[in-house]
Amino acid sequence: MTETASPRRRWPRRLLVLLAIIALIAGGVLIALHRAPLVTLPDASPAVVVIRDVRVIDVIGGEALAHRDVRIEGADITAVEAHAPDGDHGRAWVIDGAGKTLVPGLIDAHCHVDALATAPWDLSLPDTDLALERLLFSGVTRVFDPGAASPDIFDLRDAIAKGERLGPTLHAAGPILTAPGGHPIPMFRELAPSFLADGLIEGAVREVAGPADARAAVAPIAARQPTAIKLVVDALPTEAPTLSVEQARAVVDAAREQKLRTVAHIGTTADALAAGRAGVAAWVHGVYKEPIPEPEIASLAAFGIPMAPTMVVFWSYARMGRADYPPTDLERAVASDSMLDARAEAPDDFVPQPQITAYIDLVARNEQALAGNVRRLAAAGVTMLAGSDCQAGVIHGPALHRELALMVDAGLSPLDALRAATVSNARFLSEQDDPPYGVVAAGKRADLVLVGGDPLQDVGALADIHTVILGGVPLVRHPLR
Ligand SMILES: [Zn+2]
Repeated sequence: MTETASPRRRWPRRLLVLLAIIALIAGGVLIALHRAPLVTLPDASPAVVVIRDVRVIDVIGGEALAHRDVRIEGADITAVEAHAPDGDHGRAWVIDGAGKTLVPGLIDAHCHVDALATAPWDLSLPDTDLALERLLFSGVTRVFDPGAASPDIFDLRDAIAKGERLGPTLHAAGPILTAPGGHPIPMFRELAPSFLADGLIEGAVREVAGPADARAAVAPIAARQPTAIKLVVDALPTEAPTLSVEQARAVVDAAREQKLRTVAHIGTTADALAAGRAGVAAWVHGVYKEPIPEPEIASLAAFGIPMAPTMVVFWSYARMGRADYPPTDLERAVASDSMLDARAEAPDDFVPQPQITAYIDLVARNEQALAGNVRRLAAAGVTMLAGSDCQAGVIHGPALHRELALMVDAGLSPLDALRAATVSNARFLSEQDDPPYGVVAAGKRADLVLVGGDPLQDVGALADIHTVILGGVPLVRHPLR
């Protein structure tokens, strides 16, 4: 495991960096040799799969359809019919769905697939394959990556689409557009080893002061056919520069010239309003720094754009290294004890800059405000998208389940949380009201999760995973324990 052997606490930072360099040199081959995959393809991919006598959640109609036979041919669902007890399924691969529930494959609308999921002080190597496996293991069959460390993300997207790499279908934004010196530059300088920070910033960030910068930054990204262009309208930490409305509009205009949508990282109500006025297609965080003043709820809803509140990343920031952070069963199935333990406690020599500490304090103070904002915006008609913002402490796959639980805690129904992670995300990503995935129905892509229990009563049932089907192929899952 890349994330098991990390020496922590009391070790001088310079020694850790030296170890990291040695590990990087030796790493690639050793990882491939020593790490057992969490998910594999079956020995033979069946031409036809039938899930018999299963309860199907119709996420659009909002009801459960009892006793259905779901037929899959190739990558598509071809029939959802009343269960025929004597049905002859010929040579099909038959999965008994009795007592179980079938939902669309989950979609994460905010997942940095190349980000390390370890705590920042738990030094380890990036392992994108591991992230992809964790996602699939957790029933996440599609993700939107709104900001990658390198434009290689587009190559990864294409390799997955061609079947050359095993992973959820990937949508990507590529590098992040931000104000000169804006987020995520200060965070990278703070959290990444100095010898890595410059390369990370060069790959992941495009600094934009005005229209010319915006066009120059967008053009090469547009050539890679991103799902959207990502921009930052949030002072993070609070002293950092951020895009003004005019600068944000320059980015939106540059993207529109290339027929591309934009999505915005936001923090305050003013940020959300600025991004909305600039013309973005979605907010990819909630308003997490303050309660939204009541009159602005209607102003935000009037933009008619969706929001991925990513409550889990702020929930995690508020706890990582500071408070009780018990792992979920799904986290224990995909991550080592040392990684999960490291998340609970920071080493003594990990002392962040005061402005980073102040930022985390601000996030922690506003946890209930964020939840209230989500509840109030949803009630005002804002479509919620489910996204986790996978990164430090926020583990690819299990984090989306945490996000759904936080949505329900905030006051959404389990059905609305499930919709956020399926049909709503699908509509946003596909730009179609009747999306070709994210729904269990004939003619849709067969990305599916078979779970125990009733997710319409308890959204936690989505983590009780029996089978994950990716493009018609039932995957073989290998939990760590
Ligand atoms: Zn993010």
